[in-house]
Amino acid sequence: MLVAPKQIELREEPEPQAPPGGIVVRVRAALTDGTDLKTYRRGHPKMPMPTRFGHEFSGDVAAIGAGVTSFAPGDAVMCAHTAPCGECFWCAREQEELCETIMPSMILGAYADTIAVPKRVVDRNCFLKPPDVSYAEGAFLEPLACVAHSIRALAPVRGSIVAVIGNGAFGILHALLLQRQGVDAMLFGRRPERVALARELGLQSFDVHERSVRDVISERSQGRGADAAIECTGSSEIWESAPSVVRRGGRVSFFAGLPAEARVSFLAARLHYDGVQLLAPFHFRPADVRVAYELTAARVLPLPRLITHAFRLSEIVDAFATLDAGEGMKALIEP
Ligand SMILES: [Zn+2]
Repeated sequence: MLVAPKQIELREEPEPQAPPGGIVVRVRAALTDGTDLKTYRRGHPKMPMPTRFGHEFSGDVAAIGAGVTSFAPGDAVMCAHTAPCGECFWCAREQEELCETIMPSMILGAYADTIAVPKRVVDRNCFLKPPDVSYAEGAFLEPLACVAHSIRALAPVRGSIVAVIGNGAFGILHALLLQRQGVDAMLFGRRPERVALARELGLQSFDVHERSVRDVISERSQGRGADAAIECTGSSEIWESAPSVVRRGGRVSFFAGLPAEARVSFLAARLHYDGVQLLAPFHFRPADVRVAYELTAARVLPLPRLITHAFRLSEIVDAFATLDAGEGMKALIEP
């Protein structure tokens, strides 16, 4: 439980019951992510404290609820933590990430021995984990779904130049997927260990302390600017500067969210006269979870390389203290 900013408590609670149509998963691997760290530091509007905590996980089915036929106790599974209702105004318009009840019904509490997964998630966003995929790799299902959604929304053309700004796990995942699609992806960030890791993973990786995004992109595009830029830092300064690195007619995608009260401004002429388009994809649809499942099952991404630390669940306080100190990228939490 996250009881207050920077205050995590381990509590003994009765094992959850499987809801009708749902399952209980014995967590084998959970992963930390940037949203968790932001929530740990300052809380989150969608997660009033005290709150269960953790949303990237995989594990084994411990119990099934009435009517479940697609999974059986003992199955290894990987699940997202949300699913749309399939019936509301937004679901009917294929904007399932905006489903009326997708956020209120999300499940938190992957930093636990067990987690109850409701019917809607079981029906649409849970998959059997192939035996050669580790539990830690399986826990990437949800972040990969977010990235698959983001890239589908941007729809970059093969051979186009895309600047990915921010070299945390989400920036690296974007660059890896873009590169697989034949996009000329360039990843920018500041922490030297992340710049080096991205290079080891075969990415075009640049340290913004050495050269600015604009200089590198300008040189690589004969001064035109990138065909697209993806903001993966969650900093309002970077949001505001991102439109300046794309070409006339280019697109900017704001992947990393800002606090609810944040305001940003852009030069209007860049949008109107230069035809720069802005988009800000959030969350994912079941189709994106399917893409994430296929990528994970095919084991085509170096997912374990993004895990920099591993802790037992009993060490969860240390895990977040470590991340809060600016160390590492993703931590693996194992009960
Ligand atoms: Zn809905």
